[in-house]
Amino acid sequence: MNLAKTYVLATKNPHKLEELRSVLSDVGVELRSAFDFAELADVDEDADTLEGNALKKARYTFEMTNLPSVSDDTGLEVEALNGAPGVFSARYAGEKATYQDNVIKLLEELHQAEKKGFSSRKAQFRTVIALVSADGEWFFEGICAGEITHEQRGAKGFGYDPVFVPDGFDITFAEMSAEEKNRVSHRGKAVAKLKDFLKQ
Ligand code: IMP
Repeated sequence: MNLAKTYVLATKNPHKLEELRSVLSDVGVELRSAFDFAELADVDEDADTLEGNALKKARYTFEMTNLPSVSDDTGLEVEALNGAPGVFSARYAGEKATYQDNVIKLLEELHQAEKKGFSSRKAQFRTVIALVSADGEWFFEGICAGEITHEQRGAKGFGYDPVFVPDGFDITFAEMSAEEKNRVSHRGKAVAKLKDFLKQ
């Protein structure tokens, strides 16, 4: 397959851009972002799946730039909550919710579930990356399984990091260095699959 060398990451999140740039630095691709294209509007993430949101953003960016476009969406899926907050992870406690609001709501919902007999603390982060180019559309998935703690621990990272302990560890994502987290994280795994694909 003859894939172009310049890709657009459909995000204005500088952390995601830096992370992807550093992972893809040895693949020989130039990574641009939504910052480089003033005509790109924010896309409503209103699909009911992670795949739907990722594809929506990547398709829009491809249509606007004519360059192969990459987008991701991530959700935290909690067993005792039937997979919630899932695709609603960013706005679990409301449209304008902060990370802290969402974490507090999650702990409270798990407390209520426990009172009803659902005591599992199992959860997984799932990232879906969509790639859209003139050659087709692809998905790359990364999953990190773990457990939700009863209290917040650690000050690093973001989002639900202070309450998530990945399997095989006894510290939360918020207690890990960025490098350590990237090695085991959902996003790290999805990006590694994208990288393997681009290397082909
Ligand atoms: P996004 O798709 O990357 O924007 O992620 C949606 C929401 O999931 C974020 O607002 C965070 O609350 C949560 N989230 C995504 N990735 C992580 C992570 O690596 N750690 C903790 N929370 C995350």
